[in-house]
Amino acid sequence: MAGLNFEAEYVDSFDVLKVFAAEGVEFLLSCEGKVPLSDCNGKNIYLFFSANWCRPCKVFIPHLVDLYETLRKRGISIEIIFISFDRDEDGFKEHVKSMPWLAVPFDLNLHRRLIDRYRVDRIPSFIPLCSDALTVEENLIELIEDYGSDAFPFTRKRHEELKAIDKRKREEVNLEELLTREGRNFLISGDDRKVLVSELAGKTVGLFFGAYWSPPCRAFAIQLADVYKNLKDTKGHCLEIVLISTDRDLKEFNLNRNSMPWLAIPYEDRTRHDICRIFDIKKIPALVFIGPDGKVISLNGKFMVSSYGAEAFPFTESRIKDLEAALRKEGNALPQHVEDVKHEHLLKLDMAKAYVCDSCKKQGKFWTFSCDVCDYDLHPSCLEKVNEDQSW
Ligand SMILES: [Zn+2]
Ligand SMILES: [Zn+2]
Repeated sequence: MAGLNFEAEYVDSFDVLKVFAAEGVEFLLSCEGKVPLSDCNGKNIYLFFSANWCRPCKVFIPHLVDLYETLRKRGISIEIIFISFDRDEDGFKEHVKSMPWLAVPFDLNLHRRLIDRYRVDRIPSFIPLCSDALTVEENLIELIEDYGSDAFPFTRKRHEELKAIDKRKREEVNLEELLTREGRNFLISGDDRKVLVSELAGKTVGLFFGAYWSPPCRAFAIQLADVYKNLKDTKGHCLEIVLISTDRDLKEFNLNRNSMPWLAIPYEDRTRHDICRIFDIKKIPALVFIGPDGKVISLNGKFMVSSYGAEAFPFTESRIKDLEAALRKEGNALPQHVEDVKHEHLLKLDMAKAYVCDSCKKQGKFWTFSCDVCDYDLHPSCLEKVNEDQSW
């Protein structure tokens, strides 16, 4: 008998309009006012549990709004019904302002009963009420955050398809496909010009993942801008950089791109998000180089640029190997220990990512003669040996 009861409850819960009617819900709310339950007849219905005070909910809602509007524009008849976890009506009213879909009117007891019935133990929760519910992917929140409206109809099969598409896009980059979106075939420059993605053909393209709020990103952007300018001056337009912003809002994004000489994907476009996912970007700053042939040259462009600057062009593994070999050769030709007329202690050959030469006060990198006793660095070229070479 227990099994039979479970089944009855199960089927019942899927017919949400009946559930609402049984609970005494007479109408739903939209931004324009009351909507009769019958408006949902024949639509694919999804329940959305969320609260105004919940940060993950606030992060999730823009993804869901994009999904809702995109699917409806495509003529897919879906309806989302919001059931509130808000503690009071003010919070509820504030919260529904961010939602273009329907809401169950505020009633703490009713909401509690619905939360129990649908066994919601966390927010945000997004629950499809459709016949193929058993094939639905388990973590719908993550799926929708990752793929937006492409996630529809939210099945495991669809998820597998999407992962395969990502893999193909990563392995065989088509810039037009990667950087454009329906209705947008351009990128924007720091000074608000529109540049067609097709103009990137034949260039090496760096995808720069960064945000203005992050000091390491701002520091790296300065290094990258030097490399960008250097290559433009010496090699012509062989390199283009595209900012894939992870800024928190439009204002930050505009500060970010206005400070840079390259292009960007518009902020409101979720292509930014897709590209982060495709290249599995987990921390910023990050730089992915794509060659003129559409193959990914390096996922670790940041290391190349911060270590070797413009010398690293065209940012291939073999170029880096050559640079490393030249560096080793240079080191082998230098003495391990030296004495310099300008310093009282013995100096030892060392390797540093960046230093300032205490003789000429200019920047240096890689080989240095440094002092273990005090904080002293010397360019190998600034060395004035004592002893036999004093005649220099
Ligand atoms: Zn020096
Ligand atoms: Zn010293």
